[in-house]
Amino acid sequence: MLYLDNSATTQIHPEVKDAMLPYLMEEFGNPSSKYYSAAENAKIAVKEARHSLASLIGSSDSEIIFTSGSTESNNMIIKGVADFYADKGNHIITTKVEHPSVLETCKYLETKGFEVSYLDVDEYGRIELDDLKSHIKENTILVTVIWGNNELGSLNDIKSISELCLENNVFFHSDATQVVGKIEINLSNYPGVTFLSCSSHKFHGPKGIGAAFIRKDEYDILTRLTPLLHGGGQEQGIRSGTLAVHNIVGLGKAAELATKHLPDNIKKIKESEQYLVGILKEKFGSQIYFNSDELKKIPGVISVQFRGINNEVLVKSLAPYVAVSTGSACSSSKPSHVLAAIGLTIDEVRSTVRISLSSFIKKEDLDIFKQL
Ligand code: PLP
Repeated sequence: MLYLDNSATTQIHPEVKDAMLPYLMEEFGNPSSKYYSAAENAKIAVKEARHSLASLIGSSDSEIIFTSGSTESNNMIIKGVADFYADKGNHIITTKVEHPSVLETCKYLETKGFEVSYLDVDEYGRIELDDLKSHIKENTILVTVIWGNNELGSLNDIKSISELCLENNVFFHSDATQVVGKIEINLSNYPGVTFLSCSSHKFHGPKGIGAAFIRKDEYDILTRLTPLLHGGGQEQGIRSGTLAVHNIVGLGKAAELATKHLPDNIKKIKESEQYLVGILKEKFGSQIYFNSDELKKIPGVISVQFRGINNEVLVKSLAPYVAVSTGSACSSSKPSHVLAAIGLTIDEVRSTVRISLSSFIKKEDLDIFKQL
């Protein structure tokens, strides 16, 4: 079976697995313990992994807070900012095409008295800068905008959005789950990005581990927010709980590999994508329509309508040979809010399939589409 659902999750890289194994067995110490070697080795491994992730996204090591993944990071940042700065304002701006871990968190905050603006998006799922500008108010405490969309692959103009937020002195969070390890990100060039979320399993690391980037100010102090998890004070008091060392080591290795191979991987994935698009165009002609913007999008993510074909039927019939999806893995039973937000009709939504490639795919593997 050819796995082409890499936006849902990715295969663990064999080197990631090898790096993790010792920390499941002999190196089982708690990095918060002291003096004996098992604890010290775990501490060193966590330090190295933190550095690898920081290098991948261009932050400093101490701006990385390990979490269980992007769902937690998104909750922690949005609820944490809302709670900590409630005296300053109660307005949050987000978009209609966020992942449920952002949208549901915002909806929850609305029940607690916060006001949330959900921005419209263009035909590719991107927000307009002027629209964002017109929504920023005196009481706006946070703007949260997805970096690369999980259903369409479309990329927001994070540079301009972050500059606008900086000018207006508003915190800016971006859910970068789909882009970390997939496109080049250097947060030192984006001073307006205050917070970022990522999950290791989207870039060939293990599941259940991710991180929040929290920017430090010029005095080396982390942007304040109320923790989601209170307890032993790990992760600078922001995220308590014994560190999942084996998972953190896996994330670190995946980040190191992503940093090392990023340009080659991007090139390889783009070539595979072009090849696949060529096959699909030849086979289906005008029956197919691409929902994603060809240029400003995550390499290898294709959202395509097979007109006149029901996507559930298509995905099921392909399943023995090729794994693709009708949308995001977490909400695939509901019609997509993302595709509705870009203006697709219900028939267009029901004929849309997401194909997401990875660097593990060889061009020849994609010839299977010629036989289907
Ligand atoms: N945000 C986006 C854009 C995602 O695609 C996902 C997962 O698909 C998440 C957040 C949640 O990540 P996790 O399930 O690893 O917590």
